[in-house]
Amino acid sequence: MPLNSKSFELTILGCSGGPICGKTCSFLLKPTNITYFDILSKKLNCIIAIDAGTGLSSLIDILNDSFNNTFTTSNYLLNLYNDSLHISEYLNDSNLSISYPFKDLHKLNKSVLQLSGDLFELLSGYLITHSHLDHISGLVINSTFFKNEKLIFGLHKTLDILSNSIFNNLVWPNLSSIDCGLKLIYKTLNPYHLTKLNDYFSVISYQVSHGYIPNLNSNYESTAFLIINNSNNSKLLIFGDVESDLSSLQNLNCQIWDTVSIDILSNLLNTIIIECSSIDKLPNQPLFGHMTPTNLITEFIYLRKKCIDDKLGISDKDESFYKSYTQQPLLGLNVIIIHIKETFELNDPRKLVLNELNKLNDLHNLGICFTIGLPGLSYLL
Ligand SMILES: [Zn+2]
Ligand SMILES: [Zn+2]
Repeated sequence: MPLNSKSFELTILGCSGGPICGKTCSFLLKPTNITYFDILSKKLNCIIAIDAGTGLSSLIDILNDSFNNTFTTSNYLLNLYNDSLHISEYLNDSNLSISYPFKDLHKLNKSVLQLSGDLFELLSGYLITHSHLDHISGLVINSTFFKNEKLIFGLHKTLDILSNSIFNNLVWPNLSSIDCGLKLIYKTLNPYHLTKLNDYFSVISYQVSHGYIPNLNSNYESTAFLIINNSNNSKLLIFGDVESDLSSLQNLNCQIWDTVSIDILSNLLNTIIIECSSIDKLPNQPLFGHMTPTNLITEFIYLRKKCIDDKLGISDKDESFYKSYTQQPLLGLNVIIIHIKETFELNDPRKLVLNELNKLNDLHNLGICFTIGLPGLSYLL
């Protein structure tokens, strides 16, 4: 079994589920073996952004923190609660490593603002999971500053909403037009097809359901991205906002689990980034197209079953068979939880969600390593 080489370096610009603005979902991804120092000094085209709920402002916070050896500005949300844990406790017992990829950048003798601008100018493009404002507002506000064109990758519906309802010369200038300097180039992703993002990364996209739109009588479409490192075929699965198949009454997530189980068994995929917006709710309370711990665990119970079935060529045993199976396929799988909503209570919702997930993880003997994603942190995956 090949050892996963931790070839992805992910920086969380923001991963809150709101409603506080400024730190909602956005991630930077680069190959681990290329430093930001080299990227900036040699102008390398290898960073991609996934969603853009925040952008330059959060990178500025991170660089400031990085030069001062702290996380206090980029990760201030933890200070808003009475009982937040130490950063290391949100990592649980996972084998994820935290990295400090920006610490050398002061050697370039530029201001934090200049460095952040240069870095965003070098982005290959954005993968957009869906067009809700908490996932695109950073792109909108930052976009007028771009000098070079940016590729915007998304499913047809996502790009359709972006171009017709946001970058339409009314809400914001149409930056994909010649009049506005062709700063944005839309690249439609076809579900289940491999698309090259740059020399280092490719992506396969999957449709997922993110709630129901009553006036359109349809489910709202969001996306999961399977990002592939071209050099060694290692993979990272990251979901936009998503509800469980239990609440969507569709089987879109099952289809993704059916596809990636083979990558989990071969250890090419050892990290999944997925939302869990709140603790479990009372029956009949609306979930607005999001996950809760019980729903998310149901997804992983299905994934375990699929992995064991793949391995043994069986199916349709009851859960007790899979629960007591000796070689648990999800043992050590890193699951980074994002999009937890702030609650305006004294207690940190991240801690509550982590506790509920870990209880269910133990109850079902899944062996998953749950980590709560935190803005400002970088991880080697
Ligand atoms: Zn959303
Ligand atoms: Zn969201």
